[in-house]
Amino acid sequence: MADLLVLGGGFGGLAAAHELRRRLPRGDQVTVVAMSDRFFVGFAKLWDLAGVRPLVDGTRALQRLEDRGIRFVQAEVTAIDPAGCAVETSEGRITGDGMVVALGATYRPQHSDLVDAGAYNLYHAASLPDIRTALEDLTEGRLLVSIMGTPYLCPPAPYEATLLLQQRLRDEGVRDQIDVVISTPAPLTLPVAGPDASRYLADELTASGVGVLTEHHVSSIDGQNRTVTFQNGTVLDWQLMLAVPAAAPPPVVASSPLAGATGWIEPDRHTFTTSAERVYAVGDCTLIRTATAQLPKAGVFAEAAGKIAATNLVSDLYGGDRLTFDGYGYCFVELPGQRVATVAGDFYAKPKPNVRLAPPDRASFSAKQEWEEERLSSWLG
Ligand SMILES: Cc1cc2nc3c(=O)[nH]c(=O)nc-3n(C[C@H](O)[C@H](O)[C@H](O)COP(=O)(O)OP(=O)(O)OC[C@H]3O[C@@H](n4cnc5c(N)ncnc54)[C@H](O)[C@@H]3O)c2cc1C
Repeated sequence: MADLLVLGGGFGGLAAAHELRRRLPRGDQVTVVAMSDRFFVGFAKLWDLAGVRPLVDGTRALQRLEDRGIRFVQAEVTAIDPAGCAVETSEGRITGDGMVVALGATYRPQHSDLVDAGAYNLYHAASLPDIRTALEDLTEGRLLVSIMGTPYLCPPAPYEATLLLQQRLRDEGVRDQIDVVISTPAPLTLPVAGPDASRYLADELTASGVGVLTEHHVSSIDGQNRTVTFQNGTVLDWQLMLAVPAAAPPPVVASSPLAGATGWIEPDRHTFTTSAERVYAVGDCTLIRTATAQLPKAGVFAEAAGKIAATNLVSDLYGGDRLTFDGYGYCFVELPGQRVATVAGDFYAKPKPNVRLAPPDRASFSAKQEWEEERLSSWLG
């Protein structure tokens, strides 16, 4: 009888756990260890802010894994011992015969400190109630959304948030009194999707009256005077500032023997094997290099990697087919009016990713809703 550990109950962990359960004999045990007791897809936070649907309606309890024959332990992983295929947790040491590490990403500490000076972290679910209140009070001045550094989770999400929020302000009749601006340190809106998709997105923002500041690195935030200073000397005042800190590896990942010099785990980009036998790493806690940059930190990639890692782990134990990831994937780009564009293609292509944007339509919005529902119901229904 084998014991398989899955660290993390997000996209990568849930995909891996279910794939392990599906492929392993019933007598083998699959255990998910996660700090949080629930799961929701990232964009559900934006739907909450935009008034599309409260976050709670898209949230499911990880305890439901138990109904699917997967053991769930709510605990903080405090140390990873890849050689011993074990973890130290707030609930004690747990050992296994194989492991998939899917612990996601946290925020770069310097950025979190800057945001704490008075802005809100757009990505942090715990900030949502305060952001909602601040939005209700917003009747004049400037709404500023600032990407603080790269990589950050889901490259289109800050732009989607900006477009959806400006539409919400329009629907509420206050948009004319509010300047809406988005800033990014990058030279393009969506470097990962290339110049054409970036231009398309920039045009959508401009057409909605949103100011786009590229090559603007936040240097400091003054919460008392409600101003932000960029490294190029520009100072902007704001009434409400929503910041997107760059991603950072969770400390337990960065301090583990699995991490590379960057602090991220850098597994084989096709098989997700790591330096340790029968230990795989997937999703946002990994750094996967592409010809020009790195694979976006997105749920679709974490899920694909989770399935492949689980299949290969089963093959390590029992033989059978192994799978490889080919670099194909897609990202949704949601625009106001329940329209969704899709950026899809080969992110591993050389000399640069071969990725295209398909223009938005309402059918893709329905597809996005179904995509979420399929995951919530098949993983935790
Ligand atoms: C606003 C927003 C919109 C997004 N939109 C999209 C989208 O449209 N499409 C898309 O593909 N992606 C989207 N994403 C990105 C997506 O949410 C992430 O890329 C995805 O969640 C990564 O999956 P993961 O399994 O690697 O990590 P996560 O889903 O973050 O899961 C990490 C898990 O590890 C657990 N954990 C962390 N540290 C510890 C610890 N020390 N001990 C125990 N447990 C721990 C957490 O509790 C969690 O269960 C969006 C993200 C945001 C913020």
